[in-house]
Amino acid sequence: MERERNQILYLVIPCYNEQEVLPETSKRLKEKMESLMEREMISRESKIMFVNDGSKDRTWELIEELHAGDPIFQGVKLSRNCGHQNALLGGLMTAKEYADMVISLDADLQDDIDVIDQFVEKYYEGCEIVYGVRSARTTDTFFKRFTAEGFYKLINFMGGEVVFNHADYRLMSKRALDELQGYKEVNLFLRGIVPMIGFQTDVVTYERHERFAGESKYPMKKMLGLAADGITSLSTKPIRFIMLTGALIFFCSIVMLIYSLVQHFLGNTSVGWTSLIVSIWALGGLQLLAIGIIGEYIGKIYLETKERPKYIIEKVLR
Ligand code: UDP
Ligand code: MG
Repeated sequence: MERERNQILYLVIPCYNEQEVLPETSKRLKEKMESLMEREMISRESKIMFVNDGSKDRTWELIEELHAGDPIFQGVKLSRNCGHQNALLGGLMTAKEYADMVISLDADLQDDIDVIDQFVEKYYEGCEIVYGVRSARTTDTFFKRFTAEGFYKLINFMGGEVVFNHADYRLMSKRALDELQGYKEVNLFLRGIVPMIGFQTDVVTYERHERFAGESKYPMKKMLGLAADGITSLSTKPIRFIMLTGALIFFCSIVMLIYSLVQHFLGNTSVGWTSLIVSIWALGGLQLLAIGIIGEYIGKIYLETKERPKYIIEKVLR
């Protein structure tokens, strides 16, 4: 389905202590937007929306100055630091009221902004979601690359469906964003949720650059937190592993029971050994099994409380 052209694009950029990069970022993004407008790829109503995630430096003052100087710049100020994922969601939900399509990107422009053209082109071809995927991580350190790629693999193994090497650089149509609003969970991991929405999607690959100024706002601690949230919010598989281990140990305990009894009747054991060893194995196994079963139910309750939409209708013929 081809779309009409010249629609409204919003860029949503979460910013946490980004005073070093904002002047340059705003300049580059404005040039990009103007070039898109000149080629009539996007409407003149298109905007660049910065979301200030409770910065402690001059980030918000800079955003206010930008807005005063040119209405293409807009700002959303969060009441405090809510974290990257929540800041992004806040921005997306605000922008979708005015935009036909929204692209989310980081303030440091590590993600190549020249592929925005391709994002928009794919949107006009009918895509509701377009994922930006890193083709290479040559500028990342070995450590970052190893942990990040391991993370995508682990999540997929645990049953979450994430797009490999895709961070939060993506285009979403107003339609997809309206559906995203139906996911009520508090423990939010956008990279896992967005693929659940479905619809026609596509991928655009790009090379990731280094940060041109300032330093990463994602230290080790936040990265591990994001990974833990990603896994536990998408899957209850870890609980199942506990249950399986319990079942396995319980099975071993039955084997041990038979073995000990045989030894007992053969007279090879000292007094008390049989009962002791059997109870250690049987109780340990039973306990793990029981915890696992309780965990299964807690897992179900956990998923229920999220009140996720059970389905999304793409089209009705009538
Ligand atoms: N960010 C945010 N809130 C936070 C931490 C980060 O809004 O609590 C923003 C940050 O300003 C940047 C984006 O999230 O626009 C990605 O952060 P960064 O570039 O530092 O992460 P990295 O690229 O090192 O993984
Ligand atoms: Mg970055």
